[in-house]
Amino acid sequence: MILGHSHPEVIAAVQDAVARGTSFGTPGAGEVELAEEIVARIAPVEQVRLVSSGTEATMSAIRLARGFTGRAKVVKFAGCYHGHVDALLAAAGSGVATFGLPDTPGVTGAQAGDTIVLPYNDLAAVRAAFAAHEGEIACVITEASPGNMGVVPPLPGFNQGLADLCSQNGALYVSDEVMTGFRVSKAGWYGIDGVRPDLMTFGKVMGGGFPAAAFGGRADVMAHLAPAGPVYQAGTLSGNPIATAAGVAQLRLLDDAAYAKVDAVSAEVRGLLTAALAKEGVAHRLQVAGNMFSVFFTDAEVTDYEKAKTQESFRFTAFFHSMLAQGVYLPPSAFESWFVSTAHDDAAVERIAAALPAAARAAAEATA
Ligand SMILES: *Cc1c(COP(=O)(O)O)cnc(C)c1O
Repeated sequence: MILGHSHPEVIAAVQDAVARGTSFGTPGAGEVELAEEIVARIAPVEQVRLVSSGTEATMSAIRLARGFTGRAKVVKFAGCYHGHVDALLAAAGSGVATFGLPDTPGVTGAQAGDTIVLPYNDLAAVRAAFAAHEGEIACVITEASPGNMGVVPPLPGFNQGLADLCSQNGALYVSDEVMTGFRVSKAGWYGIDGVRPDLMTFGKVMGGGFPAAAFGGRADVMAHLAPAGPVYQAGTLSGNPIATAAGVAQLRLLDDAAYAKVDAVSAEVRGLLTAALAKEGVAHRLQVAGNMFSVFFTDAEVTDYEKAKTQESFRFTAFFHSMLAQGVYLPPSAFESWFVSTAHDDAAVERIAAALPAAARAAAEATA
């Protein structure tokens, strides 16, 4: 909710849409408008298809990559979350990490058998996987800048390296921007690092609080989707008129000034957070990706999921509950990104500032 809850212009657009019909089961004007907003902002998206959740977006992108390449295997990175797609629920970050679950029951060996899980930020591992599975890898899917193991940005050159290795090996580079898209800049993480993916996925911000998501990219790849091509994909509620009205209204409000405001609030909260923890002598590391950030209770730079898991997360538990008791509800996991919005005004930041000293003390005093 990058504009905060119940932004009056988003709500007005939704009310207008509701009054004109809630589902048509066929493409509508709102779907086209939202698609045009996406294509206008993000150059690598030559064509786009709307779906209803981030999970559907990544699931469909992977099916398309497999159909386009005629290959079965998918590379993903430990700690990256791509929705609850069976084949991608391996080492999948926050939801499972919080509860210390290895993976999830209900996903069979066959469903996950073509998934290759590699350590994040490790190009040598990707190179080795392409060598070991020559001609078998359909795509590499990665969070554009991961936020589901805490914030762990790509090291310089990592995303470009992925794009290069994919193109050298006839695989597609799929950048999952469900979290970063339209949040960290007008053009998401692509707007920050400029690395051109073959396919991209979006969700969250683009729906304005309603179920709208999308995948898109190279027109020659998208041409393989039904009905133009043979790779089936459909959805009764895709491009739903209420969801698209909310998405269009929200994206149109997200101009340069809105991003400048979100960036400024993010910097302010980060400064307060790290100062409060430093004052209590709490070892911590603040990691930042655009206006997204998170705190790891460790000294060392966190570049992958293994390192993220070595943090003293019991300190986060104490910190979180102290903040909550004082009326500040943080993301409830040491493996989640923090998000701020244009609705975080001076009064909200002051409440956070007032709550931080006691929470930092609680983190300092916490024991495993
Ligand atoms: C949230 C998320 C998804 C899944 O989106 P849903 O709408 O929850 O299905 C996929 N990828 C990333 C990077 C996400 O953060």
